[in-house]
Amino acid sequence: MNQKKLIRNARAIVSCDGQDTVYTDADIRIDGYAIDAIGKDLDASGCTIIDAKGMFVYPGLINTHHHFFQTFVRNLLTIDYPNLLVVDWLDKIYPIFSEIDSDAIYYSSLVAMADLLKHGCTTAFDHQYCYTKKTGKSPVDRQFEAASLLGIRYHAGRGCNTLPKSEGSTIPLAMLETTDEFLLDCERLISRYHDPSPNSMAQIVVAPCQPINSYEETFVESVKLARSKGVRLHTHLGEGENPIMLERYGKRTLQWAEEIGFVGEDVWLAHGWELQKDEYEVMARTKTGLSHCPAPAVLGGFPILDIPAMQKAGMNISLGCDGSSTNDSSNLLDSLRMAYLMQSYHSKQRGGAPSSYEMLKIATVNGAKTLGRDDLGSLQVGKAADLFFIDSNALELAGMLHDPANMLARGGVTGAVNLTMVGGKVVYEDGHFPGLAEEVLAKEAEACCSKSLRNFFPEIFA
Ligand SMILES: [Zn+2]
Repeated sequence: MNQKKLIRNARAIVSCDGQDTVYTDADIRIDGYAIDAIGKDLDASGCTIIDAKGMFVYPGLINTHHHFFQTFVRNLLTIDYPNLLVVDWLDKIYPIFSEIDSDAIYYSSLVAMADLLKHGCTTAFDHQYCYTKKTGKSPVDRQFEAASLLGIRYHAGRGCNTLPKSEGSTIPLAMLETTDEFLLDCERLISRYHDPSPNSMAQIVVAPCQPINSYEETFVESVKLARSKGVRLHTHLGEGENPIMLERYGKRTLQWAEEIGFVGEDVWLAHGWELQKDEYEVMARTKTGLSHCPAPAVLGGFPILDIPAMQKAGMNISLGCDGSSTNDSSNLLDSLRMAYLMQSYHSKQRGGAPSSYEMLKIATVNGAKTLGRDDLGSLQVGKAADLFFIDSNALELAGMLHDPANMLARGGVTGAVNLTMVGGKVVYEDGHFPGLAEEVLAKEAEACCSKSLRNFFPEIFA
């Protein structure tokens, strides 16, 4: 196969580089996985040509928080997140999670990753904490199978819950692991999959699920392991657990995390809507990242992050769609739009809101920084060719084509993209995954959901 490609004559290339360059009527030349030139009328010798006439080209989106396995518990009005207290919702949904098996992990991940790729996401992080008797230790392995079938970059967060209900957690017995079991499996996954080199398609993150659902020891040992192996750390924080942490440890969660070393440039946290202004400074000083997930905040009725104040304090914010039981969709363009509108809603009280383009950089440049990927996040020479096309000839886009950088979130561009490329390889184009029988996979996934879950909980899936 030809290693060199030329994306020819794109109508606009929104690079998200340091100068916010938007190229017009320009080409991108790719050698192997990386971009080797961007400009007008580039030399095409030896290149396979990809015609981009009329296309707007954007850097691939980077998703920094998700739970793929929840894709099979979507659209359940019988356990409606917006209309239940979180604790009641957890009590109802965890028994379903307990029945998830290895095939359900594989197919639900495949569905989530397909949704992500179709909507311009090229690098996905998943926080996988569903380990049941039926899955054994297989989930992350099954997810890498799915990722390599579709060609998405995958950063796997190996999660866990170690604290039993009898000691104050919300976790059913069938989903508990010991700290040792967890650490051992993290070590196995790191040695089997973790690749820190440029253009890496596979990385491992040590990611105990939530401070309130594991022993402190689990987090302390996670820090030791991650630092000794040079991998990153992730957990949920500031999502309503602070009262419990104050009762249990006499301190707020971020202070607890800082004292045990679970902060730093190699750490990012999901949600953070409970963070206080003084804690923004701690996040910024320690260079700890934050994944903003707009959908669960809206569906759950939680406070909306003050992103301008957080950024002013120096925090790095990235974007996540979050798990499908609190979003019901893995469409990151949709989350981009939602985040933009939510910030704008508060603009008068807060003295401004990020522009649509600034939100795009949160979902690209900041996402890359969050995952420690200096080879991703923008379209520049030397970076990986991770990108997507939007067809500017579509009738519904007419009238807003003068500003491609601001068009996506502002203009509500949330449908399937025209082409998605990961590391120079086209993985989605004109409604198809090249080489894959999508209808067959969709039927298999639907059947798997019934076999693993619907048949066990007919009253919930009714
Ligand atoms: Zn989450």
